[in-house]
Amino acid sequence: MNILLLGSGGREHALAWKIAASPLTERLVCAPGNAGIARECEVTALDLADHAAVIAFCRANRIDLVVVGPEAPLCAGIVDDLAAAGIKAFGPGKAAARLEGSKGFTKDLCRANRIPTAAYQRFTAPAPAKAYVRARGAPIVIKADGLAAGKGVVVAASVAEAEGAIDMMLGGGLGEAGAEVVVEELLEGEEASFFALCDGETAIPLASAQDHKRAFDGDRGPNTGGMGAYSPAPVMTPQIARRAMDEIVLPTVAAMKAMGAPYQGVLYAGLMITAAGPKLIEYNVRFGDPECQVLMLRLMSDLVPALLACCDGMLGNFDLRWYPDAALTVVMAAKGYPGGYAKGSVIEGLAAAAAVEGVEIFHAGTRAEGGRILANGGRVLDVSALGKTVAEAQARAYAAVDRIAWDGGFCRRDIGFRAVEREKNPAVGIP
Ligand code: AMP
Repeated sequence: MNILLLGSGGREHALAWKIAASPLTERLVCAPGNAGIARECEVTALDLADHAAVIAFCRANRIDLVVVGPEAPLCAGIVDDLAAAGIKAFGPGKAAARLEGSKGFTKDLCRANRIPTAAYQRFTAPAPAKAYVRARGAPIVIKADGLAAGKGVVVAASVAEAEGAIDMMLGGGLGEAGAEVVVEELLEGEEASFFALCDGETAIPLASAQDHKRAFDGDRGPNTGGMGAYSPAPVMTPQIARRAMDEIVLPTVAAMKAMGAPYQGVLYAGLMITAAGPKLIEYNVRFGDPECQVLMLRLMSDLVPALLACCDGMLGNFDLRWYPDAALTVVMAAKGYPGGYAKGSVIEGLAAAAAVEGVEIFHAGTRAEGGRILANGGRVLDVSALGKTVAEAQARAYAAVDRIAWDGGFCRRDIGFRAVEREKNPAVGIP
């Protein structure tokens, strides 16, 4: 098959690595890609917002399958436009992508289908939103309805902070994304990411992961796109995973089908594992980044037939096999991220780092120039490793990090600390 992969981050590098390894893959092209992806497959410059250009590329190159990495083209309806042109694509159509594109849509779907989630109300005007906040009290969570590049959620410790967030969002501080807000109850427990493949009719679980969103050690500092992740998530016991499928994912797939917007693609459920069981925090309509990197390392089966089964409604009898090993990824970011940072610093030692046993290095934001690899983004490298335990995967990943010479970069030194703690003392706290 000729496959076109859309995107340019670490998630897409991991997908390219796995798709390129499939015996079904004749030719793989990634657009726009990055310097690491260019070592796995061809890359080409395409503007993903220009659907007509993507379609023209598919026609000219006889592309059999398009795999869409990021959410923006999904929410913009690229899968619908490709389908209308007769081109098969992995990912939800625009109507189904509302599960990520509109938090209010997802909350209403949960309410209508008794899917466990935080209690909430939707608002388009500040006064009733503030009255609701005062009635509920703090802590409380304020969310912009639309896509806000990770800036759309404020976990407010006080009523005043909540009111400030409402004024900021409804006052246009996040643009169109904040024209409506969801105000919801704060959930308590441990967070986990849970992934399922969906074919419009049914779903099969992938695996669980946990990520570290804060920039600095000890889960401190500003929120980021993710500074590291590991899989499996110890908090996702087989029983909790079963409940997440039965109580959250499968009812969502059924509800989307019933409303004529069948969900095909990967569904990423951000869960809070509370004392009462798993509750949905939010959906994403694509693989997590950097969770995808650890999932691809652990996946033993060929990915391409699974992607095709999602597109073709054939997941019913599908089975995936996983390595029992743990996987962990450490994100190396440019100094200053998630604030301002410089591009263009030189990264050395990548070959030596990749030689550490069990290690795979995915590029998140790099470019090649004159045989050298240069930083070209906020999150730049995902240094990833498999190991028999999270502790072993962690030790391998950091051994590789220590072989990388990059003055312009930094990383957290404690990725996976909760899981490593649990491995040392398995009795510790599964809530
Ligand atoms: P979201 O973009 O919805 O995933 O929210 C970003 C982060 O805010 C989540 O990963 C949680 O850490 C936190 N969060 C969002 N909603 C809630 C909630 N209802 N209760 C507790 N934490 C939340």
